[in-house]
Amino acid sequence: MFDYLIVGAGFAGSVLAERLASEGNKKILIIDKREHIAGNAYDYYNNDGILIHKYGPHIFHTNSKEVFEYLGQFTPWRPYEHKVLGSVDGQLVPIPINLNTINQLYGLNLNSSEVEDFFASRAEKVAGVKTSEDVVVSKVGRELYEKFFRGYTRKMWDLDPSELDASVTARVPTRTNRDDRYFTDTYQAMPLHGYTQMFQKMLSHPNIKVMLNTDYKEIIDFIPYHNLIFTGPVDEYFNYCYGKLPYRSLEFKFETIDQEVFQPTGTVNYPNDQLYTRITDFKYLTGQKHPKTAVVYEFPKAEGDPYYPVPRPENAELYKKYQQLASSMTNTYFVGRLATYKYYNMDQVVAQALTTFKKIMQGQPETYING
Ligand code: FAD
Ligand code: UDP
Repeated sequence: MFDYLIVGAGFAGSVLAERLASEGNKKILIIDKREHIAGNAYDYYNNDGILIHKYGPHIFHTNSKEVFEYLGQFTPWRPYEHKVLGSVDGQLVPIPINLNTINQLYGLNLNSSEVEDFFASRAEKVAGVKTSEDVVVSKVGRELYEKFFRGYTRKMWDLDPSELDASVTARVPTRTNRDDRYFTDTYQAMPLHGYTQMFQKMLSHPNIKVMLNTDYKEIIDFIPYHNLIFTGPVDEYFNYCYGKLPYRSLEFKFETIDQEVFQPTGTVNYPNDQLYTRITDFKYLTGQKHPKTAVVYEFPKAEGDPYYPVPRPENAELYKKYQQLASSMTNTYFVGRLATYKYYNMDQVVAQALTTFKKIMQGQPETYING
């Protein structure tokens, strides 16, 4: 008899497996329908011996000391601050938009306070910032919005920014200084030997059994367990009884390039042209030394593996119905990006899983549901 059956061996499932096994002394069976652990953070060496991320570039960053130190038990870190350029008007300019972006794009020589005035003179008054369009036009005006955000967002989500919650484009700030890092979090680092090795360590506890290539529906009726932790799509769990929750998918195209580096930064975004949104050159992320490099192109798609919840009011409404159903269940916990339908980064999923663990250990009502 397992104490916990955990569906999904990504961050949500693996953190809970590790905590419940080593701190809670529980017996765990963790399963995944894929042939590997680590969920969307899975990385591996390609045929040319270059470390790549199977489900697109994963860059770790967090402001949480607790999350950083927790994961640090399972991996040494390699400091890495991600940089992104955007291909706009025939130039490669820093993203997020900063002082250098504006000077380079318009051939100006503004200082920080002048660029602040530049933004203010173009910003549109928006009563109540609600959408992803509002966020940007209210800060930098319509022209920069169109150059950097409208096309990228339409391509990525197949929706206009005016149809998406403000939180989506608010992920990318605007700066009046020259800081050209994509993230400004306190802790920015990559697992030195890759994500998969870190997950292997997390799941190496003798109380944890791992079963791969297995959809939970194939075994759920035959495996004896007390509690279930589900980290897959919440609508799938309930057989889409209220209809499908929209998720955005991607197709990844990988290439090995016979040169040491392919492009000047880890990622280059293509807001306005090309069918892909961005190209990432993996060796910047991993720090690997190799005479060749490997890149990935990301092509957004409607169908395919569910990668991104789509943040907009009608989807939040639909999710609420599933959440209510989920919270009525006993001994069943829904955790992670797909199970709680939240556009979460890795560190947020780890934090959510650690919180769930604490609540389980405090003996919260069995019907507790994370969300
Ligand atoms: P997942 O990693 O999706 O794990 C869920 C697991 O459940 C999967 O392995 C799946 O196979 C399994 N599963 C689902 N259904 C079943 C079933 N029926 N039976 C058995 N198993 C099942 N975050 C960052 O912090 N930084 C980044 O740079 C970053 N880049 C990203 C880039 C892309 C392209 C994507 C898609 C995401 C990115 N993220 C990034 C987000 C990050 O991937 C997630 O926050 C994190 O991986 C979510 O972990 P999870 O455990 O909730 O879900
Ligand atoms: N975005 C954009 N232009 C850019 C970068 C981002 O319009 O050059 C918008 C787009 O809607 C994107 C969102 O901001 O989906 C969040 O970007 P982020 O880089 O955080 O996306 P992720 O890495 O999660 O795919």
